[in-house]
Amino acid sequence: MTEFDDDFSADETTLDELPDDFDIAPVRMTVDLGALADNFREMARRSGKAATAAVVKADAYGLGLEDCGTALYEAGARDFFVAAVQEGVTLRVYAPDARIYVLSGIWPGQEALFYEHGLVPVIASEEQLAFWMGVTAEHGDHPCALHVDTGFNRLGLPLDAAIAFADDVSRPASFSPVLILSHLHSGDTPASPLNRQQLESFEQVAAAYEGIPSTLAASAGVFLGPEYHFDLTRPGIAVYGGESVNGAKPLKPVVKAEARIIQIREASAGSTVSYGATHQLSRNSRLAIASVGYADGYMRSLSGAGVPLRAGGTSGAFGFIAGYRVPVIGRITMDLTIFDVTDVPTGAIRAGDYVELFGPNMPLDEVARAAGTIGYELLTGLGLRFERRYLYPDD
Ligand SMILES: *Cc1c(COP(=O)(O)O)cnc(C)c1O
Repeated sequence: MTEFDDDFSADETTLDELPDDFDIAPVRMTVDLGALADNFREMARRSGKAATAAVVKADAYGLGLEDCGTALYEAGARDFFVAAVQEGVTLRVYAPDARIYVLSGIWPGQEALFYEHGLVPVIASEEQLAFWMGVTAEHGDHPCALHVDTGFNRLGLPLDAAIAFADDVSRPASFSPVLILSHLHSGDTPASPLNRQQLESFEQVAAAYEGIPSTLAASAGVFLGPEYHFDLTRPGIAVYGGESVNGAKPLKPVVKAEARIIQIREASAGSTVSYGATHQLSRNSRLAIASVGYADGYMRSLSGAGVPLRAGGTSGAFGFIAGYRVPVIGRITMDLTIFDVTDVPTGAIRAGDYVELFGPNMPLDEVARAAGTIGYELLTGLGLRFERRYLYPDD
């Protein structure tokens, strides 16, 4: 024990007065679980007669599996989709009697996890199907879902094989999927004729497996209309407040991401900003140095200048502070980003304040577009330094 530690522990009141981690975090996010629940109920309403599942893969799109999973369960979700089996194991604690589907299917060595935690593998290939037959023969009946490829060429049994298998008299009686699934590749583009092609293919599969519930629509598919809803819909991004259909207004914003301003400095016209000196100031400026960088998932491609690979057009991201949109200038660095706050009145902000990176005032998808990407990637890429705070519906 150092003297330093002794001094601190001797003074209990000092410890009690230490600020909450959230109030001093370099980067932080506020997740509005009430908005999340509202968005889920809205997608359920738009799903009409179909049931609605919650998609909580990738730590609930980066917002926290435990808290979001609990809120979605309380909002009525009883079907959940995760990508990896370990996510299912975690979710099981918070969704005790829900059906939890694992989209990546099952691998040798994972059998016990599926059986013990009551997880449902989404069988993704003929190889997995053969493996699963062996597993159920050895360990006993267990529900599974069947993924059928209708044009994505990512996961799923080929269409013809899936239909043939449905009619195969030698199919083991113990193999009875509880769900038939496929995924649209162009749901975000309602005008694409490929949506209808996939729909027609999936209708054939659903007919071949008559009596077994089927699901085709993720968020975007819900908006394509009732034909696409089948028995269950699987919205993810729309529930988290992101854009699912290109150009369409998202539901309620759920997350606000902020970074702390470490210092505000004056810089004179003609001087340059950040690595590579790619931004030269055209006027005497005030710069806010915020403690967020590409290590936090605030991508370098959001820089105001000096990112040659960003396809032309956008000029970099904006933050939001004290009622003003403030541009990122120069290159974003690993831990720090520079915002031009010259137009914000002096005295309206000071070091220690937080700048909104995205949230209610700075749309997630607008920021993502500035980086040449989508809201999904921005959300799921946020780094480990983010401190999270959850707002509960009754707060
Ligand atoms: C991720 C995913 C979803 C959810 O997609 P969103 O576009 O976020 O609504 C649904 N189904 C499958 C198979 C997925 O991989």
